[in-house]
Amino acid sequence: MRQSLVMGNWKMNGLRSDGLELVQGILSGVNADDKGIAICVPYVYLSDVKVATENTALELGAQNVADQASGAYTGEISAAMLKDCACTYALVGHSERRSYYGDSDESVAKRFCQAQSEGIIPVLCIGETLEERESDETFAVIDTQLNAVIEMAGIEALSNSVIAYEPVWAIGTGKTASDEQAQEVHKYIRDQIAAKNKDVADNIQILYGGSVKPGNAKDIFAMPDIDGGLIGGASLDAESFLAIYRSI
Ligand code: PEP
Repeated sequence: MRQSLVMGNWKMNGLRSDGLELVQGILSGVNADDKGIAICVPYVYLSDVKVATENTALELGAQNVADQASGAYTGEISAAMLKDCACTYALVGHSERRSYYGDSDESVAKRFCQAQSEGIIPVLCIGETLEERESDETFAVIDTQLNAVIEMAGIEALSNSVIAYEPVWAIGTGKTASDEQAQEVHKYIRDQIAAKNKDVADNIQILYGGSVKPGNAKDIFAMPDIDGGLIGGASLDAESFLAIYRSI
């Protein structure tokens, strides 16, 4: 039985006081023995949130990580720095990084490896655009994005990672993939991994991301290959985020 995971992604929203208020709101609904709940916070607030979440079940993640270990890379944040801020997770390859900042499949694979080199669990985000879906390229896009990581890191490395399937057309648009559409791609991802290593495929958490809300979370999470969600907009409201978490 795979442990489920619900992870918030605050993106570039709010200031320190907003973030700390949000954390307090989330913590008011999280018990010490809860598992599988995390938030990905802007880099500059990681230390504040680290203090606020100490000795709680709420885990911490970053929204990206550098593709190099250290050195003259102005503006970048290394995996070692994230570890220093108590991050358990780091997103890699979020579609907003891929499309606005040019994070290529190769650099996403390097970021994945950098995270793991410091014991941080990379959350590999993959998914097709609307144009790609409409031209029947969904599975080809998934193959390319997934294989770039498998080729660099090796299939066994996936066992210390999480995958987030996020159809780009459903992120922040209010459009959600139907439960069946999401399940179809999740199963495809798991089958591709199983063809290389069944054990890894059986155990890897594959999250769905794309306009998950309290009203649709339960049905999405009921799908057999969906192990939880990566939540953007709805993670900025403590009540909504908790309601999604309790839908698992
Ligand atoms: C995301 O940012 O990964 C995401 C899924 O956003 P939203 O839930 O707002 O669609």
